[in-house]
Amino acid sequence: MTARFLGLKIDVDTLRGYREGVPRLLDLLARHGVRASFFFSFGPDNSGKAIRRVFRPGFLAKMGRTGPVSTYGLRTLLYGTLLPAPLIVPSEPDLVVKTDGEGHECGIHAWDHVKWQDELDRLDEGRIEEEFLRARELFEQLLGRPPLSCAAPGWQANARSLHVQDRMDLAYCSDVRGREPFFPVIDGEAFATLQIPTTTPTMDELLGRDGTDEGNFNDRLMATFGDVTVHTIHTEMEGLRQLPLLDDLLRRCRDQGLAVVPLADLAAAVDQKKTPRRELRRGTLPGRAGTLALQS
Ligand SMILES: [Zn+2]
Repeated sequence: MTARFLGLKIDVDTLRGYREGVPRLLDLLARHGVRASFFFSFGPDNSGKAIRRVFRPGFLAKMGRTGPVSTYGLRTLLYGTLLPAPLIVPSEPDLVVKTDGEGHECGIHAWDHVKWQDELDRLDEGRIEEEFLRARELFEQLLGRPPLSCAAPGWQANARSLHVQDRMDLAYCSDVRGREPFFPVIDGEAFATLQIPTTTPTMDELLGRDGTDEGNFNDRLMATFGDVTVHTIHTEMEGLRQLPLLDDLLRRCRDQGLAVVPLADLAAAVDQKKTPRRELRRGTLPGRAGTLALQS
């Protein structure tokens, strides 16, 4: 029997997800004796500004299914608009240090998650680099070394963001949705940093669609798993209200002999000489508003 792996990618998007979700996830992962990858949003929590996404098709449908107030909390939905945007990691820097100390991979999700997710295509390369460097500087201050991985907010990537990442000496990025590790090509231009795509739908994409509910979620999720799977979870969902579902998923993985690992382990196992180049294109996925970066 060949070994099967689940790369567990944990996105930290908001102050609440960081301060309340991360500690619960660390406890849960320790109980299961597994390690994962945490991608932190280091800077301001501007979640209130994400309300702008209300004007994009699909957002209201998604919010109806997942319940924004119960998932994010009312305060979170006002950050950056009626309430000032608090800084996420500076509010409790020890939590990044603790995550690293417990053996998990720590990488960069963003400085300002909402800015990257909503405005990436309007930012020039210098501005994108500035966002990245602010997060990297804080990472280095806390952990005493540069980050080796990043995961773009909302799977938003373009040639400018990949240029910036190529200059950062990263072991890999996880910016896209796809099937297997690859080197991205955009409009004929090849990029040097390995991509480890998310291969499964996320909880917010599945729940409430086609009869998927909390009772059958893990069955339907695991039906999408291959030999090497990368699944993205959010501290605001699986780290809080949906923690029992993640607990159940990790139990099933153990029972089925699926090894839960950080994405860095998957990246290290990739034979880069045999890794394909694939076009990175923009498209839509069921259950998710707007467009995102997809492996062709
Ligand atoms: Zn995110």
